[in-house]
Amino acid sequence: MLCGPFMIRRLWWGLVLVAATIQLDVVGGEVRPKVHIFATGGTISGAAPERIMLSGYKSGSFTIDEMLAKVPEIHDVADLTWEQVTNVGSGNIGTEILLQLASKINTLYAERPDVDGVVITHGTSTLEETAYFLNLTVISDKPVVCVGAMRPMSAVSGDGPLNLYNAVRVAGATESRGKGAVIVLNDEISAAREGTKTDTYRVDTFNGKEFGFLGYADPDKVVYYRKPVKRHTYGSEFIVKDFTDLPKVDIVYGGYQDAGPGAVMGLIEAGVDGIILASGSRGFTEAIKLAREKGIAIVYSDRKGQGRVLESPTRLAEGFITADNLRPQKARILLQLALTKTKDPEQIQRIFNDY
Ligand code: ASP
Repeated sequence: MLCGPFMIRRLWWGLVLVAATIQLDVVGGEVRPKVHIFATGGTISGAAPERIMLSGYKSGSFTIDEMLAKVPEIHDVADLTWEQVTNVGSGNIGTEILLQLASKINTLYAERPDVDGVVITHGTSTLEETAYFLNLTVISDKPVVCVGAMRPMSAVSGDGPLNLYNAVRVAGATESRGKGAVIVLNDEISAAREGTKTDTYRVDTFNGKEFGFLGYADPDKVVYYRKPVKRHTYGSEFIVKDFTDLPKVDIVYGGYQDAGPGAVMGLIEAGVDGIILASGSRGFTEAIKLAREKGIAIVYSDRKGQGRVLESPTRLAEGFITADNLRPQKARILLQLALTKTKDPEQIQRIFNDY
């Protein structure tokens, strides 16, 4: 066997190269997970002229490159790749971006088996809707982590950098597999189905109401105490890859005194496919019946923010669906997806019971 000084030198440089490559993925003797970030905007990317300005900032000011530059330590916990999907407040996120995100994540997971998890940066106002949509349309057991912030990136003591850092840790944690999409803010991990924004301003705004958190992103480790039992992600029947749009569903706020039929009549006129009632009202009972006659799907949810709307055989016999404990904004997402499969109220009720 040839083993002159030239050969030894080649072997040596070969080893150096291999070691350098391994160094890219290994920290402290551990393999770093691979995490991809999809950035969409929100307060987490917001900027104000002064560090002390905690309101009046502009969402979607910092790009994901600039955000990552503010948390250089993030590269110690994962091997990161990233892309800017859009850079807007979450009031501007809708069906088009949701379908794009689902398609990008499904494609990434199908084509890059080496990727361990994804993070979606997002405005908090509609973050729970995006999280629930991805919970129903990403067909994989790999983590899908939605993150936002309550203070702009430019703020003194902003929560964005740590939330982003923690979201990447959660996405890279093997413990996050099979938990469906989750929401990470304020070190707390909420399930996409129940996690909801409960405060207009405080940093501890997200929680799962009566169901609490799934776990925490603590400094020592990412820790879970329970997992969702309703169907989600890898157990979902909703394949949206060929969709360019979704059925139109709106929400009518009811249950208040003197509620009239105007909003429901307006939606009938507008030609919606479904209506979610954030509580029903005597004042629009007749209008709802008319909507049913026109084939519009009607789902009873509730405005209280907690608790179930009980299933009612009489209501179902009349063609009305009940949302169980899904909040109206999430019932809307589920009804949109359900209507891509069926218009039969019994089938839609089955879907509401399953998810
Ligand atoms: N307006 C912001 C948004 O939803 C609020 C936030 O991000 O917290 O984009």
